Amino acid sequence: MNYVINLPTQNSLPVRGTEARFPVRRVYCVGRNYEAHAREMGTDPTREPPFIFQKPTDAVISGATSIPYPPQTRNLHYEIELVVAIGRRGVNVPESEALSLVYGYGVGIDLTRRDLQQAAKDGGKPWEWGKAFDKSAPCSALVPADVIGHPASGRIWLSVNDVIKQDADISQLIWSVPEVIAFISASMVLEPGDLVFTGTPAGVGPLLPADRIQGGVDGVGTIEVCIGDSEHG
Ligand code: MN
Repeated sequence: MNYVINLPTQNSLPVRGTEARFPVRRVYCVGRNYEAHAREMGTDPTREPPFIFQKPTDAVISGATSIPYPPQTRNLHYEIELVVAIGRRGVNVPESEALSLVYGYGVGIDLTRRDLQQAAKDGGKPWEWGKAFDKSAPCSALVPADVIGHPASGRIWLSVNDVIKQDADISQLIWSVPEVIAFISASMVLEPGDLVFTGTPAGVGPLLPADRIQGGVDGVGTIEVCIGDSEHG
């Protein structure tokens, strides 16, 4: 096949224990999937269920890297999240079969331009500019479910400059991983390469250039990123 421009690069993540990489197709994110976080965002999780938004494939970036402070924001926030990597196609998948689609798991940070997100909410406009910017989805190496199974509980945490900011347990997810997979696959076809950021617990907050972020999910892995200076001046 000839293309009129160079073929864009296939984004991918490392997989622990192998040189082979996981190619990234789509990035689904669950909003307001922990009760305490939904409440800190000013919503009532008993009245509004979680929901899905997306980030671009190339927003995913491996951890252990420096991410430039993004443009057009004065309120960049961290959100630590369990990430699910889809390895099999699925349409209308029942919860009872959902975990059979999972290739493995990782630890991600849903970086958010909170001020742009809030302005979008206030204006009844899409969240896109607040959520789907360059390098907004750092993620750890993935670990296969063959190796660790399917974690349903375990501490999820994040620190900024060694101060713990988020500290919860993935058992507190409002929609469990099988429920999220069932929900997405009822509306879209899940394909191998899809990632699902499953939502963040309470304690989100701002980041500044030179901050060092560490986070993890017990039994899955850890991630570390630093925030650099803006590339946009
Ligand atoms: Mn999030």
